[in-house]
Amino acid sequence: MALNIAVDGPVGAGKSTAARELARRLGILHLDTGAMYRAVGLAALEAGADMSDRTQIERVNASADVDVTFENGTQRTLLNGRDVSKEIRSPEASSASSMVSVVGAVRAAMLERQRAIAEGTDAVLDGRDIGIRVLPRARFKFYLTASAEIRARRRMDEMRAKGVDLEFERVLADVKERDLRDSTRDIDPLRPAEDAIVIDTSDMTLEEVVERMLEIVRHKDRL
Ligand code: C5P
Repeated sequence: MALNIAVDGPVGAGKSTAARELARRLGILHLDTGAMYRAVGLAALEAGADMSDRTQIERVNASADVDVTFENGTQRTLLNGRDVSKEIRSPEASSASSMVSVVGAVRAAMLERQRAIAEGTDAVLDGRDIGIRVLPRARFKFYLTASAEIRARRRMDEMRAKGVDLEFERVLADVKERDLRDSTRDIDPLRPAEDAIVIDTSDMTLEEVVERMLEIVRHKDRL
């Protein structure tokens, strides 16, 4: 059976960075599933869809072909064949992704894609519902979390490094709004799987988080 590792948690908990580094050290694939929801969100924005109208989102989803490719381990996210890896990182796409992700048809399409990518492949998948839905039989399940303030601060620093200055209060409000939406949606709300190992990253460096995960994987798998 393939070595599948699930990394879930709220926005800004450091999932993507930690998952990418974990995958690199283990020499296996890293799939950022949030990027796929972001691509659907971008498609909805570009179509001028009303984000609160399920029917419109379902229509956008039906015509959005979301795919990923990997170049030297780096994921490229494609929307109808177009590389949208950069565009999906905008604050507008962030917000749109969280809105389209409450729609059942969107989740079903992403689920199918993600399972197909992970099947038979050693991979780290990061997202919100990997441990509970996408890969319920994953060999390892991690749930990373941190306080909303720390997560907002990290998001700000990340954007600043890309040359985008954001106001702390606005980022914090956005983090809280996304938390609420992700954890209260009807389908697969954000929560740790029963058998997940929860890691509070508030007072940890990225290196420490990755080391903790590696230790657990190596100990159990004797890799
Ligand atoms: O992880 P990231 O912030 O890029 O994810 C964007 C949005 O996609 C999240 O706010 C969440 O609503 C949604 N998402 C999800 N299930 C996943 C990954 C992301 O619902 N597995």
